[in-house]
Amino acid sequence: MKRARNFNAGPAALPEEVLKRAQNEWLNIEDSGMSVMELSHRSAQFEKIHNHAIATLKELMSIPENYEVLLLQGGASLQFSMVPLNLLKEGKRADYVLTGAWSDKALKEAKKVGETAVVASSKEEKYSFIPSLEDIKVNEDAAYLHITSNNTIYGTQWKQFPETGNVPLIADMSSDILSEKVDVSKFGIIYAGAQKNLGPSGVTVVIIRKDLIEDNDQLPTVLNYATHAKNNSLYNTPPTLAIYLLSLVLDWAKEQGGVEKIAEINHNKSKIIYDAIDESNGFYKGHARPDSRSHMNVTFNLQTEEAEKQFLAEAKAAGFVGLNGHRSIGGCRASIYNAVPTAHCQELADFMREFQKNYQ
Ligand code: PMP
Repeated sequence: MKRARNFNAGPAALPEEVLKRAQNEWLNIEDSGMSVMELSHRSAQFEKIHNHAIATLKELMSIPENYEVLLLQGGASLQFSMVPLNLLKEGKRADYVLTGAWSDKALKEAKKVGETAVVASSKEEKYSFIPSLEDIKVNEDAAYLHITSNNTIYGTQWKQFPETGNVPLIADMSSDILSEKVDVSKFGIIYAGAQKNLGPSGVTVVIIRKDLIEDNDQLPTVLNYATHAKNNSLYNTPPTLAIYLLSLVLDWAKEQGGVEKIAEINHNKSKIIYDAIDESNGFYKGHARPDSRSHMNVTFNLQTEEAEKQFLAEAKAAGFVGLNGHRSIGGCRASIYNAVPTAHCQELADFMREFQKNYQ
């Protein structure tokens, strides 16, 4: 069977090698005579898988000793609430940079908890760029500054991060974690749902600086970072299958040569598609300003909705999956996370050129 050329935005393509390894181990994991889903989360076999996932992520991202890696549930969406619930104290203000619908949702949840401010935004320009660092005035007294490192819907990505001094920098990295080298020590918290670059949906990675973990017994127990930190993310039953697949994806990332090598491959993949856009004489128009272009989500429009409809229909018939833009903005989007092979990006660029030739 031929695997699909999958450009889904998330859940998204997983490495074929990972799926094959999971298939091989499906009936008998770690010599247990059981599938991973049938193991107790308190068993030695599962604990080994769980700890391996955490250790491999620490290694791949060079996570310093003073950070905790938590494996939680509830998606990145729950982090929109957990971050302010844990960090936004009475009398403090949390600052947000608005670069897309997901930052907006994060802000909306923080407003329910305490005082917030928008310190920079590209909303007026249809979220087509990342504000320049000089335009972001960090309030020295802020509880934290929240950013979305890659904007899945609009196809923009931060290239540099603001210096925030003593103010913790919090980043939603759902759609670009592990795709670029980042200096974790610059961040207070990094969080990401796994279903784009890390594995299947169901597990959310939270990398948190230890001094930001404060036991607050006023919070519901499972919404308190301290609960999960104290219990190695095994306070309650974790999503064992998702964590197992996360551990395999992380092994795969290491086999690819680690994050630097993966970033190099990603830059080449996105260039292949952006070149097809830039060389089309305006037939395809990129949504993102070139200096803010994402290496993960390439967003573009055709000149008319009719042309877009035909492009998407023909692409679908040719075996390309998931090229529709997000339902809120339409247009086209190719999500090219770590597991999407370079060959699929080349095939898409070839298809775009061919479509343009035939359409005009
Ligand atoms: N943040 C970003 C940047 C996203 O792309 C998404 C999902 N597409 C979310 C948050 C929401 O994630 P979840 O569905 O895991 O709650």
